Amino acid sequence: MDESLYKTILLVMLFLFFLVRSLFMRWSGLGDSSYVKRLRENLLVALNWTGMVFLPLIYVFSTWLDRFSLGFPSFLRFFGVFLYLAALVLMFWSHRSLGGNWSMVLRLHRNHSLITSGPYRFIRHPMYLAFYLIVFAQLLVSSNWVVGFYGVSAWSLLYFIRIPSEEKMLKEKFGDEYNKYKEKTGRILPHL
Ligand code: SAH
Repeated sequence: MDESLYKTILLVMLFLFFLVRSLFMRWSGLGDSSYVKRLRENLLVALNWTGMVFLPLIYVFSTWLDRFSLGFPSFLRFFGVFLYLAALVLMFWSHRSLGGNWSMVLRLHRNHSLITSGPYRFIRHPMYLAFYLIVFAQLLVSSNWVVGFYGVSAWSLLYFIRIPSEEKMLKEKFGDEYNKYKEKTGRILPHL
């Protein structure tokens, strides 16, 4: 099938991603909050914007990256579309549950509360799971190893560096409540 079809699909999905994010953006940074590892966090987030948005846009609007095609069959590329949409649903659900406690970089708000409902009942990092699904979906849909492997690597770097600090921060804030919550949930896969 024509590459321009997949480019258009990826562009629509990026638009939907921003739509979901914009619905909840206003909640970020409400009231006083304390940052954790601000410089490191901002660098990791910037790296991920290039992987999740900038490179996919180069793939969509130019032919520069076309020579890095992986030649995936169309059923795999459409499976990527399904994964991306599933990720957006999970992202929406996580945002709704997290409410004003959400932030793009690690932060504790003055009135921070520990959320254990919605997807947080099963896993501690549903939004990060959604982002994993998104970078894998982009690999499949674009069938492009530059877009795919940069996205997956940048995301993995943020994921593995951030999670220990995020969990330490929440443990310091919520103590035993967080320990108990941790026993009942998995990171991105539920306990069976
Ligand atoms: N890691 C979570 C949240 C990502 S947003 C997820 O993947 O769904 C990052 C912010 O969420 C962090 O700054 C942290 O303060 C906050 N956070 C993470 N888990 C939380 C929880 N269970 N309750 C309240 N805030 C949480």
